[in-house]
Amino acid sequence: MNNKEYMAAQRAESWREELRRNKKNKDRIDIPRVHMNELDPAYRITNTEEVNQGLTKEQALTEACRCLDCPDPLCITGCPVGINIPKFIKNIERGEFLEAAKTLKETSALPAVCGRVCPQEKQCESKCFYTQKLHKEAVAIGYLERFAADYERESGQMSIPEITSRNGIKIAVVGSGPAGLSFAGDMIKKGYSVTVFEALHEIGGVLKYGIPEFRLPNKIVDVEIDNLRKMGVEFMADCIIGKTLTYEDLHEMGFKGIFVASGAGLPRFMNIPGENLIGVMSSNEYLTRVNLMDAASSDSDTPVIKGKRVAIIGGGNTAMDSVRTARRLGADRAMIVYRRSEEEMPARIEEIKHAKQEGVEFLTLHNPIEYIGDQTGHVKQMRLQKMELGEPDASGRRSPVPIPGATDLIDIDEVVVSVGVSPNPLIPNSIKGLEVSKWGTIVVNQETMQSDIPDLFAGGDIVRGGATVILAMGDGRRAAAAMDEYIKSQA
Ligand code: FAD
Ligand code: SF4
Repeated sequence: MNNKEYMAAQRAESWREELRRNKKNKDRIDIPRVHMNELDPAYRITNTEEVNQGLTKEQALTEACRCLDCPDPLCITGCPVGINIPKFIKNIERGEFLEAAKTLKETSALPAVCGRVCPQEKQCESKCFYTQKLHKEAVAIGYLERFAADYERESGQMSIPEITSRNGIKIAVVGSGPAGLSFAGDMIKKGYSVTVFEALHEIGGVLKYGIPEFRLPNKIVDVEIDNLRKMGVEFMADCIIGKTLTYEDLHEMGFKGIFVASGAGLPRFMNIPGENLIGVMSSNEYLTRVNLMDAASSDSDTPVIKGKRVAIIGGGNTAMDSVRTARRLGADRAMIVYRRSEEEMPARIEEIKHAKQEGVEFLTLHNPIEYIGDQTGHVKQMRLQKMELGEPDASGRRSPVPIPGATDLIDIDEVVVSVGVSPNPLIPNSIKGLEVSKWGTIVVNQETMQSDIPDLFAGGDIVRGGATVILAMGDGRRAAAAMDEYIKSQA
């Protein structure tokens, strides 16, 4: 049975037919899209509580009714891991929330995370029949995903797969972000002995050190990590592969396959005058110190600067996380400085909306060209070049063009540079013979994620440059399937 026939057979199941009979499409399409329950902006900037509060059961049941259970569900093609979206939503509609969570887990290792952070408006929801044909707001697929995953976790009935037969073959994973975690989950289920090596003291990669608590609480990520532990995955924190242990050491320790998921944690700067002044830092440093090292607390040994006039340079998710963090740390004026217009911003639409609600200023069509310091070497001003939009560039977005002679000088006391990241060079540089692209990413076969060194596979941001959680997870899953085949072929 091919995939299309399988989907058609599932859709023909009697309970799904009954749902379709019970409520006609014309009634379904008149239901307005649900609104996420959120904390009040004035309250939430005083703390780190999660802003989105999730849907109630009633809201989820109503939103699930909007889904038309399309015969050709294009939403699935918009999901990088191909979640069976109508099936999980229809399970919610009939009140089978645990079944809905089970459907999600067939293809996604971290649905509670993805329901919170995936750019759904560019993925599944952009392909929904409502967006494509009805010109209405899409079914809230992300909100429903989060609802089902949270329901399962809070029910205390999280299913942990039993691993019956172990094959005794040792596999190493470098890095504990979403790519490493999803790979580890699949390999342990296949019977391998899996050890994840992590350079930092916390497990979770960007999910822990990058994305702040107010958007993705650590407890959500910890539950997933604990489940992997219960399944038998071992974690070794504070261990840098390429320094603490080399690739050769891993072989000597008996590891038969290595999956590199070391991410893209190397910040980029703009190389403009004043970037080395005190008070100018990368978003990686800023967020890692606040999220992982508690540097915002008053008794921290290495406290982070808490600026009152903070400029964040960039328009992606990292920039939004940084600017909203700055507001929570007491900035009166927290500014996004972005060289294009809001339309071109790569950040999730919800993050932009939340930032605005929280009083963040948006200086779009502005680009910093210089930071100016005081006598003590602290940044005190930034000079901004005003821009206008020209022709589309290679990315398809209209390119920013400086307006001659138009500049602004703005008082600031902190700058967070968030203009992109590059792959961490340690692994690519420390493994002899490994093919690396001119951007520093590891070159792999896109189907199997295998590198030119047969027992070394790689995925996530170390292969793609800065990408997304769901793409990193998808890579981990593909690599696990291919490494399993490779190891079996060597036996
Ligand atoms: P990472 O999550 O970066 O994990 C790599 C891990 O490897 C790290 O823990 C690192 O310490 C470890 N490591 C590195 N080198 C070594 C070594 N030599 N030895 C041992 N360990 C090593 N994506 C979205 O989809 N939605 C969002 O809303 C979103 N927001 C983001 C916000 C921020 C602030 C950032 C920085 C990124 C965001 N992203 C978002 C992007 C997303 O988080 C990444 O694409 C994803 O985490 C990549 O996963 P990964 O597993 O490849 O790498
Ligand atoms: Fe439901 Fe939209 Fe997917 Fe159709 S395209 S099955 S309406 S979520």
